[in-house]
Amino acid sequence: MRKFHGRCSIVTIAIMVLVLTALSARVFAAEQQEKKDEKEKITVGYTPYDPMIKEDKDGNLYGYGVTYLNELARRAGWTYKFVKVNESERIEKLLNGDIDLLCGIHKDCAQKDQLLFCKETTALEYGMLAALKNNTDIFFDDFQHINGKKIGINTSSDLENALVRYAKENGISYEPVYFDDYESLQEALNNKTIDIMLVSSLRDIDNIKYVGKTYSIPESFAVSGNNPQLMDKLNKTDLELKREQPFYIAALHEVFFGVPYQKLTGITREEYEYVSSEPTIKVAYNSDSYPIEYTDEKTNKYAGVYAETMELISQESGLKFEYIPIKDFSKAWEMVRDGEADIIAGSYMDRELAEKYHMLYSQSYLSEEYTIVGRKGEEIPENAVIALPKCFVEIQSYFQSEEPKWEIKEYKDITTCLEAVNEGEADLTAVNSVFLQTVYNLSNYEQLRIVPNMTRTIPIYIGIGENTQNASVLKSILDKTINKIPEEKFQKCVTENAINISYKPTIWEVVRQFIPHILLAISAVIVAVAYIISKREKHYKHLALTDSVTGLWNEVKFNKEAQELLEKNQEQAYIVITIDINKFKFINNDFGVRIGDNILKTLGKRIQEIFGGVGIYAREAADVFMIMMAEKDYREEMLRPLGKEISFENAGKRQSYRITIKAGICVIEAGGERKDISRYVDQASMARKNIKESASENIAYYDEKIKKRIAQEIAIENKMEDALLKGEFQVYLQPKYYLPTGEIVGAEALVRWVEPSGKIIPPDNFIPLFERNGFIIQVDFYVYEQVMKRMQKWKQEGRRQICVSVNVSRVHVRTYDFFQRLNELIEKYQIPKEYFELELTETIMGSAQGMTKDFIQECKKQGYKVSIDDFGSGYSSLNLLKDLPVDILKIDKGFLDETAESERSSIIVEQVVEMAKKMKIGTLCEGVETLKQAEFLKGIGCDMAQGYLFSKPIPMEEFEKMI
Ligand code: C2E
Ligand code: CA
Ligand code: CA
Repeated sequence: MRKFHGRCSIVTIAIMVLVLTALSARVFAAEQQEKKDEKEKITVGYTPYDPMIKEDKDGNLYGYGVTYLNELARRAGWTYKFVKVNESERIEKLLNGDIDLLCGIHKDCAQKDQLLFCKETTALEYGMLAALKNNTDIFFDDFQHINGKKIGINTSSDLENALVRYAKENGISYEPVYFDDYESLQEALNNKTIDIMLVSSLRDIDNIKYVGKTYSIPESFAVSGNNPQLMDKLNKTDLELKREQPFYIAALHEVFFGVPYQKLTGITREEYEYVSSEPTIKVAYNSDSYPIEYTDEKTNKYAGVYAETMELISQESGLKFEYIPIKDFSKAWEMVRDGEADIIAGSYMDRELAEKYHMLYSQSYLSEEYTIVGRKGEEIPENAVIALPKCFVEIQSYFQSEEPKWEIKEYKDITTCLEAVNEGEADLTAVNSVFLQTVYNLSNYEQLRIVPNMTRTIPIYIGIGENTQNASVLKSILDKTINKIPEEKFQKCVTENAINISYKPTIWEVVRQFIPHILLAISAVIVAVAYIISKREKHYKHLALTDSVTGLWNEVKFNKEAQELLEKNQEQAYIVITIDINKFKFINNDFGVRIGDNILKTLGKRIQEIFGGVGIYAREAADVFMIMMAEKDYREEMLRPLGKEISFENAGKRQSYRITIKAGICVIEAGGERKDISRYVDQASMARKNIKESASENIAYYDEKIKKRIAQEIAIENKMEDALLKGEFQVYLQPKYYLPTGEIVGAEALVRWVEPSGKIIPPDNFIPLFERNGFIIQVDFYVYEQVMKRMQKWKQEGRRQICVSVNVSRVHVRTYDFFQRLNELIEKYQIPKEYFELELTETIMGSAQGMTKDFIQECKKQGYKVSIDDFGSGYSSLNLLKDLPVDILKIDKGFLDETAESERSSIIVEQVVEMAKKMKIGTLCEGVETLKQAEFLKGIGCDMAQGYLFSKPIPMEEFEKMI
């Protein structure tokens, strides 16, 4: 199972990289169209509705053909000019020299004798028979009913031979109707002048269903027979590409067209009749497994992740489900076995379980991460005792087969499992990571810790009782449905219910670390494709959390876990160490990447051996590793064994190399405010980078900086009160824009410290300090008063009312008179409260939840408008919002950083906006800097935007001129 994950992850990465290449290829293609230089230019023809070369709404070209051609161009150094031609004339234009090259021409097409093709096939294609989606007369492989039908054929697409063979082998006769191009063919199907159309599997067509699949048709780039020089060059470059990346085509295909075997089957008559008979399928679910699946107390209905995935499946397939809540979930398995229920919505499954409970199981539609929880400072022994809830029979089965040496001890539920480990009755337990983010809190247990490097990714299936009527038909419907639903939709069910959105690594983060391995990755594609055909799994999360070379955590995972430790153990001092290998670049150069990787692995192992019991650790990037541990557990000697000799095989000989390391260390004091972990890592790295190559001491502490900072803070503290009295704090306003109209609908007040010299100190330099020493309360109220004064002036001048938001530091939450003071100001300046917006940061929601929830509720009750600032940057989940009376979500600017490159960030933003809409919460995106970002936001229905694109924060007088 784990091996499988390895392969699968490589594929997914390969695909992501290809997607990225494909995205950049759009731009590349466009640039190339324009660039007029001396390089050889090849004129490429494409057609309207061309499946290989597509046009986006801005006229940029992209697609399988574009990516492929650009890959060739990159190697050969030529450029392209893309020319649009009619489908029916394309070969003619190629022959008369108007264009040089066409993509996706069948090697057995009618004009094949006048053309030259690449030696290698350049795309996989099938002829598909498609009928209208609502056609209830013909179904998949329904030969009896396909017989005698009118089948439309596009003469320009050369698929007919495949159909002739298909018909012959299946004993079908049909009436062919010919069309010149795809457009008229599709029109005829829509008008019902034909019953079925013959189309390429590479087309993405709405509103149709497939009723048959013919054979694969080899196709390739084609040039005119008069142009053998060009074909020679193409062949040479293409063969070179295939030598390096033998499975390039398969990977490319999956990116642009999906896995054909999954996509290209349709509903059979039997399946259709089954769904039409409207059987009620009884689903046994765990009523008490919030937020995975549970009975919602308010509605008394099935809710949670699986409830939503089942809803998706129901919508796509037309199946109707009836849900039966089960308290002791092991009963559910027995019920399905005994025919009292039909299916289990979400569960790990394997052959043994299936046999034992007489079940079939669907394809995997999701995978879940299980965190291994052990005791602090203790390693997991080989014959460990694992505590598992009694009712999770599937998880028991998983560990039985994956860790046969472990002994399973049953407990009542997750809580008792955690207690058992805490008290030493068991060595470890495994908890669904979603639970750890939502329901269970390890900091409640003195002894517990997350064991690094042991997270499991467990595939989730639908279990189907063999005793259910037509079980195999049901299974095949479920499988096809799962294949049809895009992965993101399943993933979204998890996001919406639980996952802390801030930890979703962006696609770029994931890909960045794998780039050197991409060649290897692509070679692995084909092996994995075979697996994917039978099992599909989704486990971006797993992928995103481990480092492919060393198997250690990666930076993303480390940061997440480290931050949690810091927040949960405020009274503990920690140290962060970053380590790198001296001259690693030379090692790579001299010995090669493989040995370089081996050295990294060995160092990773050493780190694991030394710090495994006491700290957490990861590989950050290249040769940089990071470690965090409680300060009390740290001894400088621990680092010494890292720089030992490493021996390895090189060209058949054993060699050894003594690595030397540099380490930078940052101490995080107990009891102080906890910053973002990345700050500490940066500080440790800063110390490390200051170590001179020749230095005898190779460990450095980040302490000079600390001294300097403290001195600076003291200086600020000495002058802050004076500055407030003298009016050195000034309020700037940054306008907020309503995206649909581009109109200014509000502003945010941001404080600036303008020194008498005119020097402006930005808030990041003093707000954190003021929050620690409490001075923020005075500054904030000063800002509130300035804002209200100005709003009163506007009103008197007859300007239009504008809603101004102010930042509310979390420090106010702990004071008793916040509302009293605020209300007094409101009275004094006669400001309507609904025009005064309070921005509360997400961290307010994260810390001491109960109290802050009350604070937010009170803001609302008092009549103020409330927004959540920096949403997505911290710990809160969308889930938290459900019970909070919030007006506006301000989406953190961090999400925009990479929106252009990262599909994932944009998916998250899109989901947040969509969810907020459902909850009737307005959305504003911060930090909008480019037109592209603004357009994206407008497109997904985000209400408002704020950022440098529109305006920087400006003095109030200037803002005034804008309204
Ligand atoms: P914030 O509340 O998230 O404010 C938004 C920050 O983003 C502001 O930084 C703003 O200048 C900056 N910003 C706006 N548009 C863009 C953009 O397009 N790109 C980028 N990169 N940044 C943009 P600023 O003014 O430096 O404030 C920093 C933080 O200090 C604020 O973050 C807020 O947390 C805090 N702060 C500022 N003024 C006050 C205040 O009066 N009271 C309190 N308690 N905190 C304040
Ligand atoms: Ca703010
Ligand atoms: Ca903000």
